[in-house]
Amino acid sequence: MLTLTQQDVLLGCRAADWRDALDQAAAALVDAGRATPEYRNGLHAREAQSSTYLGNGIAIPHGTPESRDQVLATGVRVLQFPDGVDWHDGHRVHVLVSIAAQSDEHLDILRALTHVLDREGVAERLAEADSAAEVIAELSRAPVIARLDADTLCLGFPARDRFELALAGAARLRQADCVNADFVAAIAAQEPVSLGQGLWLASATLGVATPALSLATPESAFVGPKGAVNGVFCLAAQGDAHRGLLERLAELLDAGDGETLADADAPSVLARLAGERAAAETMRVRVLNAHGLHARPAKQLVQVARDQGLPIKVRLLEGGAEAVSAASLTKVIGLGARRGQTLVFSAEGTGAAQAVQAMAEAVREGLGEQVVAFDERRDVDVEPATTTSSATAPLPLPDDTPHPAVPASPGLAVAPVFVMRLPCFDYPERARDLDAARGGDPQAQKARLARARGEAAEQLEALIRRAQGGEVAEILSIHEEMLEDPELREAAHEGIDDGWSAEAAWWRGVDTAARAQEMLADRLLAERAADLRDVGRRVLGLLCGVEMPAPPDTPYILVMEDVGPSDVARLDTVKVRGLVTARGGATSHSAILARALGIAAVVGAGERVMTLYNGSELILDGERGRIIPAPSTQRRARAELHMKEREGREREAYAARFEPGRTRDGHRVEVAANLGNTAHAVDAVDYGAEGVGLLRTEFVFMAHAEAPDLDTQIGEYREAFDALDGRPLVARTLDVGGDKPLPYWPLPQEDNPFLGLRGIRLALTRPEILETQLRALLSAAGERPLRIMLPMVKDVAEFRAAKAIVERLQAEIKAPDVQLGVMIEIPSSALLAPSLAEEVDFFSIGTNDLTQYTLAIDRGHAALSAQSDGLHPAVLRLIQMTVEAAHAKGKWVGVCGELASDPQAVPVLVGLGVDELSVSLRQVPMVKARLRELTLDGARRHAATALAQATSDAVREALEVL
Ligand code: PEP
Ligand code: MG
Repeated sequence: MLTLTQQDVLLGCRAADWRDALDQAAAALVDAGRATPEYRNGLHAREAQSSTYLGNGIAIPHGTPESRDQVLATGVRVLQFPDGVDWHDGHRVHVLVSIAAQSDEHLDILRALTHVLDREGVAERLAEADSAAEVIAELSRAPVIARLDADTLCLGFPARDRFELALAGAARLRQADCVNADFVAAIAAQEPVSLGQGLWLASATLGVATPALSLATPESAFVGPKGAVNGVFCLAAQGDAHRGLLERLAELLDAGDGETLADADAPSVLARLAGERAAAETMRVRVLNAHGLHARPAKQLVQVARDQGLPIKVRLLEGGAEAVSAASLTKVIGLGARRGQTLVFSAEGTGAAQAVQAMAEAVREGLGEQVVAFDERRDVDVEPATTTSSATAPLPLPDDTPHPAVPASPGLAVAPVFVMRLPCFDYPERARDLDAARGGDPQAQKARLARARGEAAEQLEALIRRAQGGEVAEILSIHEEMLEDPELREAAHEGIDDGWSAEAAWWRGVDTAARAQEMLADRLLAERAADLRDVGRRVLGLLCGVEMPAPPDTPYILVMEDVGPSDVARLDTVKVRGLVTARGGATSHSAILARALGIAAVVGAGERVMTLYNGSELILDGERGRIIPAPSTQRRARAELHMKEREGREREAYAARFEPGRTRDGHRVEVAANLGNTAHAVDAVDYGAEGVGLLRTEFVFMAHAEAPDLDTQIGEYREAFDALDGRPLVARTLDVGGDKPLPYWPLPQEDNPFLGLRGIRLALTRPEILETQLRALLSAAGERPLRIMLPMVKDVAEFRAAKAIVERLQAEIKAPDVQLGVMIEIPSSALLAPSLAEEVDFFSIGTNDLTQYTLAIDRGHAALSAQSDGLHPAVLRLIQMTVEAAHAKGKWVGVCGELASDPQAVPVLVGLGVDELSVSLRQVPMVKARLRELTLDGARRHAATALAQATSDAVREALEVL
């Protein structure tokens, strides 16, 4: 996908002629620091060779290979000419996508633009757009293409008439989650229309979530009252997403191939509907190039196709994408073929067999690149691409070029990557379709399933033994329990008795249970559902003989689509040097866990990271938030030097960890630790924490199968007080709800759990649980300093309700050193800080939630949370108001959100007057070291500068240069 920012777009340009337009494009690239002024000559020279007009009012001027020396950094500038410019080839251009590229990247940009070329009205919309955002949206929007794949087909269905076939097709689309029951009802209410050659069509737009096409064929073709029935197409229509598919269907009918669909299997149906003729010679071959069929190998492939002297088509086997001309560079690049995917070449006529053979040979030889054989164990099969994804497959990341991401856990790592992709399981749904080795009656299926579950249990046992306790072992034991769940086994056995294969019956049982779990509550339970699917896949892998992706035995950087807390907890911290995710944000609990484990991490790096090739080298910079694939030797050496320097700084910080937190000029700021487990209090002291600034007690509750009773809680809290040896403990009362449900505290289904029953609101609905917790805290504290903190307080009324309980208990249990405070994590409490400050003993600012609620961005939102930056000036103003209100009443203020350990934020928070920073325990020494670099005046300058900005990006930029 073409990634553009608003700065890349210049609106309202005017040019006397195309040469002038080209000069403006060159000047724009020079202004952007992408090229030297001489690059202009390269643009003109390239245009003189042949026009760079692409279609639909778009041209892509770029330099000749000789002018690449004039490129300073690869980049793109988009110039809009609302009045249009007459191009030298007779076309009228409205948009120039001008490219400065150090290699053949322009071809990949062209690929990203191929989808724009087929859309109607694009030229007009680009010409009329009056904002950069509109231009970007128009250029980047991927087309929706109706889905058609093995899962939407329903072949050999025992139907008596075409109505039943139409319904079978509709039901299949519903099972594939493309439509809902309204669609099925709409299909049931209509009569399929004849397409000729025994084929029929029923279509509806009602209840369509994803446009798709299904074909249902009968067990054997028959003749009904209105003619032959070879198959019924069922179309879930939406816009013109199905246009291409129907055009190919019309071609198939024109060629008289309609009847060949009657008893065809799924691969043949997909081939016919992809535009591959029944009479064609075909040849399949796997793509071996590390970065797939990107620009350079695609160019070679096109050359080989042109040399064959007859038309050759190529398509991707995975999914139902169209077969395109192998001689068209844009079409070939547009396939987006990745390593491991299979290309199908087809040709007709004399010499066709040799031609497709030659094509396959060229691909096997690497198309001009060094390739290594496909390794089934390391190169996990790529998931089958749908027709839509082939059009939007992410571009590979360029080598040795920094790629931005959201910093999630500091640290630098240089190591080979291991990309965790889920394997693709291929199995027949019905037991009767299994091969001889796996087939058999229900008893045989059940025995196979029992064997696979037994083997999975042994694997888990071995992993638990290797994990030697800790959170990893805990999660794996949960997996073991799930595996033994009798309900899951029963569900699978019922499916087998109904004729399903062991694989299908097992997976249906797992999937149904996981869906039920996801619907019960929110994120943490949803993550349990992910655990369930994990276990399910382990068994499925054994049934299908597919090995689960096994990470290498040597250190690596793990790349994943997204991670849940349980995935992070499972990481082998000895081997995993760093973590990169395509999605997610810095304050999601997974990122918090990565920091707690001390693993360098970046999140929200975008889908392109999933194109990284296993074993290729990567630099991960968790502090600056970027990754660099395949770094040059010099860059690698620099990164290693930085790592050494950082290690040096960390060593120094660690050596000085017991010094109290203070600035260079002596201003005191306490540095405490955030804990989720009281057993870690001893480690917190060992890392130099001056207390615990946030004990997330809900994790104490989550570690038990039911609510821990008074004595259990006293034991837990006492462990922390004992370890702290007189240092203060800030215990937050139970903060359940939102993204942290408790299995034994079922909550009603809510549309917006983050805006629903959570934190103190929820706790006050069950005062007996809150009271037991407060009693346990007061009893465990004895004489020691206890700070009780209430979560998610929105105003003083909620504080008073909880305070009444605390006062009643304090009259009973004498704990002399107790303070009662609130978290400031809802904007209302920051705005009302003056009234709260009258009554509370302290504030602790939860910047994770405060940012979420101020910016209205879900902190765990896969795509948006990357923008949820606590250094946003709006959040900083709320912090300023809170501190001023507290200090006016002589109360102290801490910050316990993730912002407290952000090296750029520390001076700002100190400058705003924050008295305590509470961070994950491994960060304590570095935060103290950061404080020692500051003076109070300097910190105030940081705060003033930050407050004066308008966006979080502007804040970070301004702080960078201070
Ligand atoms: C916060 O919201 O900043 C906070 C510290 O609490 P939690 O991350 O546990 O919601
Ligand atoms: Mg919070």
